Amino acid sequence: MADAFLTGVEAIVGAAHVITDEADMAPFLADWRGRYSGRARAVVLPRDTAQVAALVRACIDAGVPIVPQGGRTGLVMGSVPDTSGHAIVLSLRRLNRIRAIDPANRTMTVEAGCILADIQAAAHTAGMLYPLSLAAEGSCTVGGNLSTNAGGTAVLRYGNTRELCLGLEVVTAQGAVWDGLHGLRKDNTGYALRYLFIGAEGTLGVITAAVLKLYPAPQGMLTAMVALDSPRQALTLLNLLQARCGAALTGFELMSALCLDLVATWFPALPQPFAARHPHYALVELSSTESDLHAQALLESSVGAALEQGVARDAVVATSSQQALDLWRLREHIPLAQAAAGKNIKHDISLPISTIPDFIAHTDAALERAFPGCQLVTFGHLGDGNLHYNVAPPPGVGHDAFLANQDAVNRIVHDAVVAFAGSISAEHGIGAMKRAELARTKSPVELGMMRAIKAALDPLGIMNPGKIL
Ligand SMILES: Cc1cc2nc3c(=O)[nH]c(=O)nc-3n(C[C@H](O)[C@H](O)[C@H](O)COP(=O)(O)OP(=O)(O)OC[C@H]3O[C@@H](n4cnc5c(N)ncnc54)[C@H](O)[C@@H]3O)c2cc1C
Repeated sequence: MADAFLTGVEAIVGAAHVITDEADMAPFLADWRGRYSGRARAVVLPRDTAQVAALVRACIDAGVPIVPQGGRTGLVMGSVPDTSGHAIVLSLRRLNRIRAIDPANRTMTVEAGCILADIQAAAHTAGMLYPLSLAAEGSCTVGGNLSTNAGGTAVLRYGNTRELCLGLEVVTAQGAVWDGLHGLRKDNTGYALRYLFIGAEGTLGVITAAVLKLYPAPQGMLTAMVALDSPRQALTLLNLLQARCGAALTGFELMSALCLDLVATWFPALPQPFAARHPHYALVELSSTESDLHAQALLESSVGAALEQGVARDAVVATSSQQALDLWRLREHIPLAQAAAGKNIKHDISLPISTIPDFIAHTDAALERAFPGCQLVTFGHLGDGNLHYNVAPPPGVGHDAFLANQDAVNRIVHDAVVAFAGSISAEHGIGAMKRAELARTKSPVELGMMRAIKAALDPLGIMNPGKIL
């Protein structure tokens, strides 16, 4: 018997853009980490905003839930459906046009399915910078970046995606189109609606386009790796560099010795910066709107001051773009080395920057008491107060066996996060994965307001059900 709903969907987007075959749908249904796979009635790929709006209306009429999907690089099972098979996956991949670049307003208007790396390249071609940068940039989309309020390596200087967006076009959960594509830096006309959709993980509506902020392209960039005694010394170094370099400091990444050990084991071809092993390291990046020479002078004098004041043990300043790339590759290979070593229990948390040394000392000790010998692979964007605080099994304990402790480990880490006034999700969002922990750790007042917003904007509950709340 013909499926009237799917026939209607095909009439909207064309039969070639509705996938129902199980094997063809499979890549759209699996979590990026390969830990989970859902089911869907169809995967639908509209081409423009009008088609998205018509699809939402068709779904309302048929009572079919919608799971918006971009590059599927989210790490919390937000863009994949549950196993009921009722929902459609709404892939935004074909909404991939750059609609306009306004150099004098320093903005670009792009569709939600544009790949982040393509946006960066278009900004570069126009002589400007779109500063969002993260390891998944070759696959993730603007719509996904906005919906997860993505961070990345330059938040310290430019902010999260929320700070990089001036306007949105959204198909609401009623199937109406909200044209909020304003390129305004000031607009105090009531509620800032775009802030609701940014970070909403597709639970309030479908983002179809956005106005993004552009910046002058840096004329010089320099990278250094600094060896450190402890996270507390890293914090002192961060403050010293911020005081001396101001907005020129664009990156400050912390990593423990164990992180670089893992990279050395699994990626031995990557050059290691120091002959000796140090307890911690900071990867520091400076950008200059003047020149490479300016960045070099600033970085060398600042790192020199840190060494003189005993705020660092040793430092390597990259002398070529290849060496800078090699230093960044060490940082970017930490998650890959961890994955190669085996499964571990991950936490993407944020804390007031000043509390990070105490948080690490407190939580390391609590985990050691509960799981003696467990290995802590701690790294992250220290300049943003964001830690990837990952727990691997003690030597000799199998990774799968250790994963059975996930709930207990999460509880210890997230309770400490709450005690230190932090957040259980700094970058990746809540999705389906951290829903229970959100309910456990957020205040009833906050949860109540979030539920009220969801009920007001999506009263039928068709937008990405089962995610966040
Ligand atoms: C190797 C790797 C490194 C990463 N590094 C970082 C990092 O440094 N910082 C960081 O913040 N994240 C990071 N991430 C996570 C991920 O890349 C980002 O969250 C990214 O922004 C997700 O984009 P996406 O297009 O893949 O979204 P998806 O995974 O497809 O979707 C993510 C969420 O957004 C919703 N969504 C997608 N598009 C839309 C839309 N148009 N309208 C409404 N809702 C939508 C989905 O329903 C889902 O809930 C990393 C991921 C990987 C795999």
